[in-house]
Amino acid sequence: MTTQPNSAEARDIRYHLHSYTNARKHEEIGPLIIEKGDGIYVEDASGKRYIEAMAGLWSVAVGFSEQRLVDAATRQMKKLPFYHNFTHKGHSPVIDLAEKLVSMAPVPMSKAFFTNSGSEANDTAMKMIWYRSNALGQPQKKKIISRKRGYHGVTIASASLTGLPNNQISFDLPIANVLHTGTPHHYRDALAGESEEAFATRLAEELEQLILAEGPEMVAAFIGEPVMGAGGVVVPPATYWEKIQAVLAKYDILLVADEVICGFGRTGNMFGCQTFDIKPDILVMSKQISSSYLPISALLINERVYAPLADESNRIGTFGHGFTAGGHPVAAAVALENLKLIEERDLVGNARTVGVHMQKRLRELAGHELVGEVRGVGLIGAVELVGDKQAKTPWKNAGALGGLVNGLLQENGVISRNMADTLAFCPPLIITEKQVDDMVDAFKKALDAAV
Ligand code: PLP
Repeated sequence: MTTQPNSAEARDIRYHLHSYTNARKHEEIGPLIIEKGDGIYVEDASGKRYIEAMAGLWSVAVGFSEQRLVDAATRQMKKLPFYHNFTHKGHSPVIDLAEKLVSMAPVPMSKAFFTNSGSEANDTAMKMIWYRSNALGQPQKKKIISRKRGYHGVTIASASLTGLPNNQISFDLPIANVLHTGTPHHYRDALAGESEEAFATRLAEELEQLILAEGPEMVAAFIGEPVMGAGGVVVPPATYWEKIQAVLAKYDILLVADEVICGFGRTGNMFGCQTFDIKPDILVMSKQISSSYLPISALLINERVYAPLADESNRIGTFGHGFTAGGHPVAAAVALENLKLIEERDLVGNARTVGVHMQKRLRELAGHELVGEVRGVGLIGAVELVGDKQAKTPWKNAGALGGLVNGLLQENGVISRNMADTLAFCPPLIITEKQVDDMVDAFKKALDAAV
């Protein structure tokens, strides 16, 4: 690319290593620099405006210009810009947020614990599960089952739970004690003619076989996203969660719901657990908890987890875990105001009604020659592109078509994200039907241009 020697682009290439980016390619093409945000839109350094159809990274529920979150942060900054939650200390914002989250929980929960990212929260879940097994005198009960294509983050433990190759190749992962079972993706993984329910039964049987092969006394927990996000927006088939939960209950295995994407309205209910009738022992949240204006994440744990953990901390003398900025007062104040806005403006209701419209508009593209499957629920959706509709095979190599269409869509003023050949749509929860139409129309144009 041609860049002025001292431009932001040139300095970005010179100094900045990007997440989830091919570093050598970045040296050639440089960054897209986003300067401003406004509602569902963002604007780049050249003044071009985009619909942010991913809400950033599945995260900005209230849009990119919410003054009330700015004011909440400013108020708290002035009053108490930092304090921690170690060694019996605390502050009002974190207490208010803990109470709020416990009261909102879709199932009875005992306590909230605060972290700074989804990865840290899942890491913490894993440590709590191991600590609990030790507390219960079951030191062998340590294995955690995740799913292929599940996404749980990038720390050493959470990247091990993640079931995507690029998070593990060359990082010497996964670590021990992590197992992966099948993905509930009917379009890709069901047998010819297999109904959704029969597919769900087969996945539950596969899970049971894995547990029996390891020994049920060795398996501590199962973790899953209600709807898989980064693995390609996979909506589970009918009866899947019911059947998976029956297997877990049979062998006394904890359930962790990773609501980092689904939480706070995304699927048309406050939590994905409500959409799919999931009853977790640990509920992990991040992203839309603060609309990602500031980093904060949290775990809710029930009494089954809390009671042995509390006893073990009493035996040892402390629960030796926690992050300096976990439950940061400014982030907690912003999260509280964000949750207030989600409730006041009924953004969950908006996700439900506008979500129906978005799913309908996306499904109108199902007949397009490049579209293999359209899927989604509420305000999360995806379109999987194929080179050959019958054979469901990619065009050229996997990801080539997804990358091409994503580039064309960006030219048309919409930022989506392609996960190989699947394009995701996860706009801010404030989106209107008219704005959904603009987004889908731009996508249709990009698809037509790619033919
Ligand atoms: N869990 C899920 C379901 C996610 O989608 C993500 C991030 O996209 C994470 C965990 C990790 O969160 P973070 O990137 O904040 O570490």
